[in-house]
Amino acid sequence: MFENTIAAISTSLQDGAISIIRLSGDKAIEITQKIFDRNIINAKSHTVHYGFIIDTDKNPVDEVLISIFRAPKTYTREDIVEINCHGGTFITRKILSMVLSAGADLAKPGEFTQRAFYHGRIDLSQAEAVQDMIEASNNTAASMAIHGIKGSVKKLLQPLIDDLMDIIAQIEVNIDYPEYEDVEQLTTNDLLPKTNEWLTKIDRILARVQTGQMLKKGIDTIIVGKPNVGKSSLLNALLEEDKAIVTDIAGTTRDLVEGQIHIGSVQLNLIDTAGIHESRDKIEQIGIEKSQERLKDAKLVLLVFDGSKEWDEEDKQLLELTKDKMRLIIYNKLDKTEADKDGIWISAANKEIQPLIDALENLYHEDLLKEDPLLSNERQIGLLNQAKEDMLRAKEAMDMMVEPDLIEIDIQAAHDHLKEILGEVHREDLLDTLFSKFCLGK
Ligand code: GDP
Ligand code: ZN
Repeated sequence: MFENTIAAISTSLQDGAISIIRLSGDKAIEITQKIFDRNIINAKSHTVHYGFIIDTDKNPVDEVLISIFRAPKTYTREDIVEINCHGGTFITRKILSMVLSAGADLAKPGEFTQRAFYHGRIDLSQAEAVQDMIEASNNTAASMAIHGIKGSVKKLLQPLIDDLMDIIAQIEVNIDYPEYEDVEQLTTNDLLPKTNEWLTKIDRILARVQTGQMLKKGIDTIIVGKPNVGKSSLLNALLEEDKAIVTDIAGTTRDLVEGQIHIGSVQLNLIDTAGIHESRDKIEQIGIEKSQERLKDAKLVLLVFDGSKEWDEEDKQLLELTKDKMRLIIYNKLDKTEADKDGIWISAANKEIQPLIDALENLYHEDLLKEDPLLSNERQIGLLNQAKEDMLRAKEAMDMMVEPDLIEIDIQAAHDHLKEILGEVHREDLLDTLFSKFCLGK
């Protein structure tokens, strides 16, 4: 299917200790041989070879390790060579250009994964999970991605696809052998229970979609409370709790007031916390309206009270304002008082916020524990919704006692939409677009 041998730099193009240039295709080994000083033409699969990259005058260019992987047990199911070279940008590019001169074509973004897909090594949902893994910004996203790579989406959807196939087969038999003695005349009444069952199943999956997307992208969170209850102190304590921030990575600034923090398995995207801080003494001035506006974007509210004081009018307003939101009620300043109400008691100033950390973990604990994967990919979710629409249309027709063979079209459409999630039914141009959004070298 793919005639040429492709090559790309598979590591990120920054100065690092090592870089990997990857080749895939029939001529991967042959091409590499042209620029390598040891004989690898007959090398066994899954072996590593030490030597030097040499130019046309046989001058050494870099000291490298070359890994040979022979088809079909490779990522693309083609021969793959990985050149492990010193990681400077200059030398990495230079070796890539030598590989290209020796006969390889520069890979398009996602082309390695595309080949893996076309050769049947992975389905489309697995290919997307590879990209999700590269983009994962937190534990949960990474864990969702690894399940996806292992094929969890197919496992989830195959029963639904099979159910539809059963219904279609039933209708087909009926159309082909309407008078056949052993085949009972099929009526819409026979199809309804199965259809309802199917709709329940897909609803169960769709119900978890929002959670999946939220956990993947992080939970837009707002800290709300009257002035002086300890919002800023809480924010600082949360920032300190985030052990995932590695301080020596360039561009990571811990003192960003607005940003993403990782608490346990969840990522909180703190929204406009700076704004709240600024207006600390002016909550009346912000007014209910403005607060509502900020709240609108939030998926989670951390509502903070001063635990050493009774609720006043303002506190009650905030309670009312946030009542329809997913929220955690937090009492701060436990060091000054006793925990005498239900809620999460902390002492932000003393960085004693473990009960809040536990509560955050528990919020999504159930979803994270479940074996079923959480779908979070927009394309997949879109198709899932389309399949549901198809079946709702089919159900409507059944309710109106339309003949089964006329309903088959909708059921077939639902079936195809689910298959499209796995890439088993696809449009060439759409696939090209999809893979082109992938990382270079993947
Ligand atoms: P904000 O206006 O809601 O952002 O509140 P701040 O975080 O700025 O805190 C207001 C005041 O409450 C400051 O003087 C803090 O030191 C104090 N404070 C914050 N958290 C605690 C706490 O856990 N215990 C005690 N005793 N004081 C606290
Ligand atoms: Zn503040």
